[in-house]
Amino acid sequence: MTKLQDLVSLCKRRGIIFQNSEIYGGIAGFFDYGPIGAPMKMNLKKVWWNEIVKNRKNVVGIDGTIITHPKVWEASGHVKGFADLLSECKSCHKRFRVDQLKKGKEKECPDCGKELGKPRKFNILFHTEVGVIEGEKTETYLRGEACQTIYLNYKNVLDSTRQKIPFGIAQIGKAFRNEVTPKNFLYRSREFEQWDLQFFVHPDNMESWYEFWKKERFNWYKSLLNNKENIRFREHDKDELVFYAKKAFDIEYKTDFAGWLEMEGIHWRADYDLIQHSKFSGKKLNYKDPQTGEEYIPWIVETSGGVDRTFMFLLLDAYTEEEVEGKKRTVLKIDPRLAAYQAAVMPLAANKPDLVKYANRVFKDLASKFSVDWDDSSNIGKKYRRQDEIGTPFCITIDFDTLKDDTVTVRERDSMKQKRVPVKNLENTLVKKLNI
Ligand code: ATP
Repeated sequence: MTKLQDLVSLCKRRGIIFQNSEIYGGIAGFFDYGPIGAPMKMNLKKVWWNEIVKNRKNVVGIDGTIITHPKVWEASGHVKGFADLLSECKSCHKRFRVDQLKKGKEKECPDCGKELGKPRKFNILFHTEVGVIEGEKTETYLRGEACQTIYLNYKNVLDSTRQKIPFGIAQIGKAFRNEVTPKNFLYRSREFEQWDLQFFVHPDNMESWYEFWKKERFNWYKSLLNNKENIRFREHDKDELVFYAKKAFDIEYKTDFAGWLEMEGIHWRADYDLIQHSKFSGKKLNYKDPQTGEEYIPWIVETSGGVDRTFMFLLLDAYTEEEVEGKKRTVLKIDPRLAAYQAAVMPLAANKPDLVKYANRVFKDLASKFSVDWDDSSNIGKKYRRQDEIGTPFCITIDFDTLKDDTVTVRERDSMKQKRVPVKNLENTLVKKLNI
């Protein structure tokens, strides 16, 4: 079993991620977040938003729509060029991405070994229609990348805020790609979320801002990982670069099932996007420097990453199996800021009303300040195991001594160390330990 297979089964068992439409047999490339996964993903997005938007003066955030005017996708080049080159097997009729076929075996079906047909282009934009009257409907697309809404609103943001170049617009939002081979769990899905920053600069300052964001983004991802050696940059070869890019770097994560995989791209978009939208819309998208009066089309540094991919990589990084007293312990050593619950409150026994009553009081007190789970099921060992598997950093147990001396046991997830803490100090203890 690969770590990914173990993770997929943990995700289902503990309500982190489910296959979408599972009762109908599922649909490839679509996943739902469960009761534990949904708050984790929300926390992850909040940590990104704080890092990119909240903690900076020169970045603002927007939330754009999934469906836009169809011309947007002509201007962006997606209608013509957002295509994968595919070969279809002449025998089993499965289709494969040419760039994913083994070198030297581009003519052989990876599944049945028979001959593959000539490569053909396949556009991966999802089509949809806007309007209700037949014949008057407008055909458009679900957005293939979230960042286009940022370019569309660049002028609106400039006119409605006090931002001046250099400044950034950030967004987290869904993107849709009819991927030919959705695979590796959340890695390549058909509906997913992206976090984007488009940073607008004077062309003369492009190089230094590019390097700035490259470093910032790498350090941020690294800060979330336990195994720091599993992240690296990959510079794109010259023949991979789009014509307007001087360079491109991917931040990659090392997996045990497919080696190094892309997590985020740091892109040199120059003035390409604003020029395209200016051409197609007929609107001027210049910037006029309020001090010097210089007028120009800003250049853009883009950092574009996948929320779901990152989430999966962080789960893989956190997933740990250990042997404790001869038994296997599975624990999610995830950054406490991302855990679904910061603490779990548990009475030692569910059938002792005094314990349950006391524990309920502790739960109520903490729940207004932290996200707290409640568990009065089965035995304490099982309760700890469940919390370890969903990554809860602290377990608070109310036992018979609590009734005598108003102290509780606080157990740490990673070290499993236990400490008696007076109930009146619980809030401060958690604040300190969680570093919030
Ligand atoms: P890939 O080469 O893996 O298809 P890409 O280079 O086309 O990715 P971008 O268009 O730069 O990806 O999108 C930015 C980010 O969005 C990627 O770094 C990745 O994290 C995420 N992403 C792209 N496609 C998918 C997908 N099908 N499923 C999940 N996340 C995706």
